[in-house]
Amino acid sequence: MSLFGTNGVRGIANEYLNPELTLNLARSLGTYMGSKGTIAIGCDTRISGQMLKSAAISGALSTGLNVIDVGIVPTPSIQYYVRDYADAGIIITASHNPREYNGIKFISGDGSEFPRDGEKNIEKIYYAGKYGIVSWEKTGSFRMDPIVNEYYTKNIINSVDAENIRNRRFKVVADTGCGAGSLTLPFLLRDLGCQVLTLGAQPDGTFPWRNPEPTPENLTELLKLVKITGADMGVAHDGDADRIVFIDENGVFINDEVLLAMMAKYMLEHESGPLVTPISSSQRMSDIANEAGVELYWTAVGSINVARKMMEINAVFGGEGNGGLIFPKHQYCRDGAMACAKILEILSSGKRLSELAKSVPEYFNAKTKIPSKNTQATMERVKLKASELGFRIDTTDGIKIWYEDGWVLIRPSGTEPIVRIFAEAKKQVKAEELMREGMNMVIRAEKTSNLE
Ligand code: MG
Repeated sequence: MSLFGTNGVRGIANEYLNPELTLNLARSLGTYMGSKGTIAIGCDTRISGQMLKSAAISGALSTGLNVIDVGIVPTPSIQYYVRDYADAGIIITASHNPREYNGIKFISGDGSEFPRDGEKNIEKIYYAGKYGIVSWEKTGSFRMDPIVNEYYTKNIINSVDAENIRNRRFKVVADTGCGAGSLTLPFLLRDLGCQVLTLGAQPDGTFPWRNPEPTPENLTELLKLVKITGADMGVAHDGDADRIVFIDENGVFINDEVLLAMMAKYMLEHESGPLVTPISSSQRMSDIANEAGVELYWTAVGSINVARKMMEINAVFGGEGNGGLIFPKHQYCRDGAMACAKILEILSSGKRLSELAKSVPEYFNAKTKIPSKNTQATMERVKLKASELGFRIDTTDGIKIWYEDGWVLIRPSGTEPIVRIFAEAKKQVKAEELMREGMNMVIRAEKTSNLE
């Protein structure tokens, strides 16, 4: 059984994800690191955070690693710290999942997400159960470092045109949803001279204010408040603050794909170079890249794939269409607070957020999912059929079929026996038509697969 999913190890706290599993995963990491080095360990605001963090600390110390306990931190905050002060890191978080969940994610010495092959090696050590436990005199040293979040926000401020932002005295409503971003975002905004109004800014793992996933449905109060207060914008994080979403001055939620393209456009106005995004992202990204005359690289879905590619080709900017934006000059991982500071930098030129959103091309989407018993055979058949029909296809992750006026992406789910179909076009009716076309291809292929 694979322990690691797309986002580390996840499960319900004290059921699947219990202290024993956490202890042994930390021991596995220590063994993998040859019982040498220093690691930072932190958690988000979840109730089970301290319990699991303590287990991870014990496990790491028992294999001879030195541990720095960084307390409650956003994921990008510990990533920034690891890059500068540690050889690896562990963040205990379940990101946007409901409150009963928690998760464990490893961080590489350069602050980026742990590579897949590293996770595979750790998994092997875990299942073999042979840990590099050291003798008593070699157990690791322990200390706490409470300045991590301050160090992180200070460095964000140094990465943007803070003076211009401060001169504008922006009014911002920040909904940190009682997650880890409650400890950073309101203070970052304050230090950027903003007038800050907060919602759910008390760290609380029961998440009494809203679900940690920052979707428009979960942010209805924020949308209203931005409008009522006449704020310049509203912002909201997910539970571990690696992602962020924006509400414009009219109280309108900015589509995540629009945000990504908007930021790409801005970054390219200041520096020329390639962009990176997952194959699931909007055509807007290639429009922006074409307009600027730069290369766009499509990767498999998952921020780690985007980040690795960005490092490889020295990209100017990259990110996913879910509010996960990566600024390589700052660090190679999704960073919600950094994205917020960058948006303020753009706004300080005098543009309104609604105008910025309108400055990128418009597209429409349609999506559906269908059950699949023989996913692999079905996907092979769809691929064959699409090639026979002469379509341009991309198999980086699932099958993306390009049409003259849109595209459809057919991707099996990693966790359920279903296939997801996602389409995009310049008109809503066209997007729906392409979605149905993709759906029919899958249904026909599935039938044939089932007959065999
Ligand atoms: Mg997250």
